[in-house]
Amino acid sequence: MSKTSILFCASEVYPFAKTGGLADVAHALPRALSKEYDIQVVLPLYSSINTQKYSIKERSSFCLTLGSMEYAVEFLATEFEGIEYIFVASDPLTHKECLYGTPTEGYSDNALRFSIFNHAVVELLKRDSYSIVHCNDWQSALVPLLIKEEPEIKSKTLFTIHNLAYQGIFSYEDYKFLGLDEKYFSMEALEFYGQINFLKAGIAFADKITTVSPNYAKEILTAEFGCGLEGFLKHHSQKLSGILNGLDLEHFSPATDTLIKKTYTNLTEKKENKKAYLQESGLGGFNKPLFAFIGRLTEQKGIELLCSAIEKLADFSCNIVILGDGAQKYSDAIKEIAQQHKNIHFEYTYNEALSHRIYASCDFLLMPSLFEPCGLNQLISMSYGSLPIVHKVGGLKDSVSDYKQFKSSSKNSYGILFKDASLDNFMQAIEEGLILYEKKRVYNSLVKHNMQVDFSWKKSAQKYAKIYKELLGEPHA
Ligand code: ADP
Repeated sequence: MSKTSILFCASEVYPFAKTGGLADVAHALPRALSKEYDIQVVLPLYSSINTQKYSIKERSSFCLTLGSMEYAVEFLATEFEGIEYIFVASDPLTHKECLYGTPTEGYSDNALRFSIFNHAVVELLKRDSYSIVHCNDWQSALVPLLIKEEPEIKSKTLFTIHNLAYQGIFSYEDYKFLGLDEKYFSMEALEFYGQINFLKAGIAFADKITTVSPNYAKEILTAEFGCGLEGFLKHHSQKLSGILNGLDLEHFSPATDTLIKKTYTNLTEKKENKKAYLQESGLGGFNKPLFAFIGRLTEQKGIELLCSAIEKLADFSCNIVILGDGAQKYSDAIKEIAQQHKNIHFEYTYNEALSHRIYASCDFLLMPSLFEPCGLNQLISMSYGSLPIVHKVGGLKDSVSDYKQFKSSSKNSYGILFKDASLDNFMQAIEEGLILYEKKRVYNSLVKHNMQVDFSWKKSAQKYAKIYKELLGEPHA
């Protein structure tokens, strides 16, 4: 029997293009599903993608008319790690330095750029029949709406929200680029306080919606986390559920990681990595606990809280490393704090290999996110043998259990949680970490336990498969 065909659409996929967790998911989930499904992944061809390195070859082209303008669109393709990747190239979409814009501002023609991407996906659906099209985030949210206008496309649609804070909101001026009838500029569809909202199209028109953790699926129905869409989501909540992300263990596994100094399966072997990184960063002080933060420097990640906390934490006997890029106001603030404290090291860059070296070296990972749809960093840190200190919110609540409830027989993974994102609560959690670090046996047993937990995509991929089956009306176990 031939496998069910799926087209998986994402605006970033590791290793071709990555700014955050979506790229990791779009890399790992299709691979986890590929045994059961005939799955292809489509993404934009950005100029930063190395076509030679990945043998990305031209395949076909078409001319897209949007309003009074015509755009030449090309499809390119390659096979990588057993998955077929299709790339959409078109001048406005492709020829930009970054994926979406600068850290402070999206590109002014993003509505046009991603409209081209969505129309190109629809063209693929016309050319080949796919049973399911799985769209992700606002950058591919128009697809479920556009195919309503194409009766020959029979694909069912799943729309996954990785972060509700990014909705693809544009001025009504850009409506002409969407290639859509005026009737869709309504409260039930794209209209949002007089502007266009791409994400609303995915919510309104997809057959099912998921988000990246069960807790976040509940949170987004509230005013606190709904980013203005809580009412709209509530209206569509019957088709909404949450599935926790997993980790691609081929990429994130200390036992096989080629990006770290020494692969390891236990804490004794891990020490080599800590030694090497302390030397590389000039921090020194092997016996002191090493705290790390890795992530985008945005409000979401709790950077203000982080800055206040590290200033206090620096007075303790410990080392702190921050790896991140993003908003200048945050990088300036961190630079200033790091200049005043010898035990704080700031790596202001986006560097995949460096992030792996830090995961493999640190003893604690700080994650004071104000909201967190799922979060991958805490999963990576637990599988690399460090203890996460996290705000009890979103996917962090689903994936990190309170160390005070530790049971060695449990399949859960453990860390230090704090409620309400206040400095006092965060500092108290950090101080609990410092105490735990002194109680070496307790710290070691927690960390060793976490390293044995199954963070793979296996369970979550089965949950996605269940949704695909529901969409196709197939029986499932
Ligand atoms: P988000 O998608 O909100 O940025 P996630 O926790 O879902 O956050 O995923 C973040 C991913 O990006 C992880 O793989 C993390 O290691 C990586 N990452 C974040 N910032 C950096 C950086 N400056 N350098 C390297 N990797 C980073």
